Amino acid sequence: MTSISANLQGVRRRIAAACEACGRAPAEVALLAVSKTWPAACVADAAAAGQRAFGENYVQEGVAKVQTLSGLGLEWHFIGPLQSNKTRLVANHFAWVHSVDRLKIAERLAMQRDAHLPPLNLCLQVNVSGEASKSGVEPEAIPVLARAVVALPGIRLRGLMAIPEPTADQSLLAARFATLRRLWEALRAEGMELDTLSMGMSDDLEVAIAEGATIVRVGTAIFGNRGAPGNLEHNMGQVDEN
Ligand SMILES: *Cc1c(COP(=O)(O)O)cnc(C)c1O
Repeated sequence: MTSISANLQGVRRRIAAACEACGRAPAEVALLAVSKTWPAACVADAAAAGQRAFGENYVQEGVAKVQTLSGLGLEWHFIGPLQSNKTRLVANHFAWVHSVDRLKIAERLAMQRDAHLPPLNLCLQVNVSGEASKSGVEPEAIPVLARAVVALPGIRLRGLMAIPEPTADQSLLAARFATLRRLWEALRAEGMELDTLSMGMSDDLEVAIAEGATIVRVGTAIFGNRGAPGNLEHNMGQVDEN
C-alpha cells in the first residue's frame, strides 16, 4: 500500500468518526483531495486508492494535471484565488469553482463555459474571519451576490466556502464555521437550492463536520507536507502564480 492510500484511509476514518460523533451519515460529507503542488503521479496514486474528486489552487498547474489525467474520469475542483484573465481555462477544465468572490468572475465563468458541458458548479467564498482575513466576500454582501449569481446561465450555485484564519482555538473555529452555515441556511430559506458547505481542512475537518460541512478539502493529511524535501522545488515554481 502506498502512503497516499494509507493516508486516504486514515482521513476517511476521521470523517466517519466525526460524522458518528455528531449523528450525521458519512455519506453526507464528501472528501475533496487537495493536490496543489503535488505531481500528477501522486493524484494517480490517490485515484488508484478510490479517490475521485481533486482540488487545485493554481490555474496552469491544475489544467496540466487535468489534461495529463483526463483518462481517469476524475472530478476537478478549482479552489484558489481566481483572476479574471484566467477564468476561461478554469471554466472549461474544472467541474467546480469554490472560490468565487465577485460577480464579474461568476459572469465570466458563466459566459465562457462551453455550451455542451454540464453547468459549472460554483460556491461563493465568504470571509468569516473579519479583519483576520483578506479573502472572500463579507457576509453582509453575500445575499445580494448570491441572488445575482444564481440567475446566471451555464452555472449552478451550489453553496458557500470559507477558510477561517489559522487558530488553535476550537471554539473560535466552530463559531467561524457556524457563521458560514447560518448564512447558507438563510439563502436556503429564501428558496435557493444550495446543498454545499465547503469547509474544513486537514487540521480542522472534525470541527467543520460538526458544524455542517458537506465537502471537506484535505491536502496535507493525504499527500504530506507541501514544504517537504522532494516537493520543495515544485513549490518554488508556484511562487509567482496568482
Ligand atoms: C491548501 C488548501 C486546502 C488544504 O489544506 P491542508 O491544510 O493541506 O489540508 C484546502 N482548501 C484550500 C482553499 C487550500 O488552499
